[in-house]
Amino acid sequence: MTTVNIISLNKTYPNQSAPVLKDFSLSIHDGEMVAFLGPSGSGKSTLLKLITGIERPDSGDIQFDDSSILNIDPNKRGAVLMFQKSYLFPFLNVEDNIGFGLKVQGASSQIIHAEVKRMLNLIGLPGIEKRKSGQLSGGEGQRVALARALVTNPKLLLLDEPLSSLDTEVRINLQEVIRNIQRELGVTTIFVTHDLGEAMAMSDRMALLLNGEIVALDTPENLFHRPRSLAAAKFMGVSTFLSGDPLIVQKEACSSSDKVFAIRPEHIRVQKDTCDQSMPGVVSDCVFRGEYVEYLVAVDGTHVRARMSMPAPMFPHGAQVFVKFPREHLFEVQNQESA
Ligand code: ADP
Ligand code: MG
Repeated sequence: MTTVNIISLNKTYPNQSAPVLKDFSLSIHDGEMVAFLGPSGSGKSTLLKLITGIERPDSGDIQFDDSSILNIDPNKRGAVLMFQKSYLFPFLNVEDNIGFGLKVQGASSQIIHAEVKRMLNLIGLPGIEKRKSGQLSGGEGQRVALARALVTNPKLLLLDEPLSSLDTEVRINLQEVIRNIQRELGVTTIFVTHDLGEAMAMSDRMALLLNGEIVALDTPENLFHRPRSLAAAKFMGVSTFLSGDPLIVQKEACSSSDKVFAIRPEHIRVQKDTCDQSMPGVVSDCVFRGEYVEYLVAVDGTHVRARMSMPAPMFPHGAQVFVKFPREHLFEVQNQESA
């Protein structure tokens, strides 16, 4: 059971001018699953490498249960890392792959056998001890890699895009498997992904990373419904921002043009007829997605993205429509970009 404190970490790689992590701080509660969501190059893997000891920070500290781990050997820190590729030893069978860490620690073969069995039950693949790792499907390989990571009872589990190379169906199934195991064991976990849906489904809290800094940290629900900043809102799939100009906001007695209002795509209505709180627009795209229809509408010089669940109207390209921004769904965001 581990509380993790990351304190003012700075990291610049040799021969690089810009820092990868800037004054990076984060506390993770015991047993918590925190998802790191960020575009490629935002520093997610670097942070995990600093925690495991593959890389060293230029300054700052990393503490497990209030003691620094920076001077502890990487393999004694109790932080295990699992990647997109499972990197199982191809010449070893499943049992020897999972039991590897215990063997290194000098555990007896009876204990290893029992622990491997317990792990295989946990990941839902009992009885595959003797299978060669080359005979596993992608999803099975990742389950075995998870078992291998967990068999030594790590203090902290680090998952670096572990599901990114899997098909959607396997991926969604493994999201549930990992989340359930993580809850059952109560192991403190960082889950790195660039998939918003995955981050929301998996985590207790989400950290949104951009250029080595956390732009927001909160529960998936809070970030989804009410992101506080423009940057966080964009991360969460919001693409429509109304500044001082649009009539809707002006009606709301907004005098300051610094104020930015956001609205989620699924709260915007696209309709044939005008009504209160609506603006005229021209349809540039209308895509049928089965459960919902996605619209791109040119309104007042910008493109508004909307999403309406079925039944929803289809419009041809160029159709004249009205776009409604229901007042109750507008929320104010801080525009740090202009600050
Ligand atoms: P992410 O995992 O979010 O995609 P990384 O932490 O891997 O991001 O990389 C962050 C930035 O640091 C990138 O610009 C990357 O090119 C750079 N970087 C990563 N590893 C090294 C390294 N060993 N040497 C120099 N630059 C690196
Ligand atoms: Mg990475």
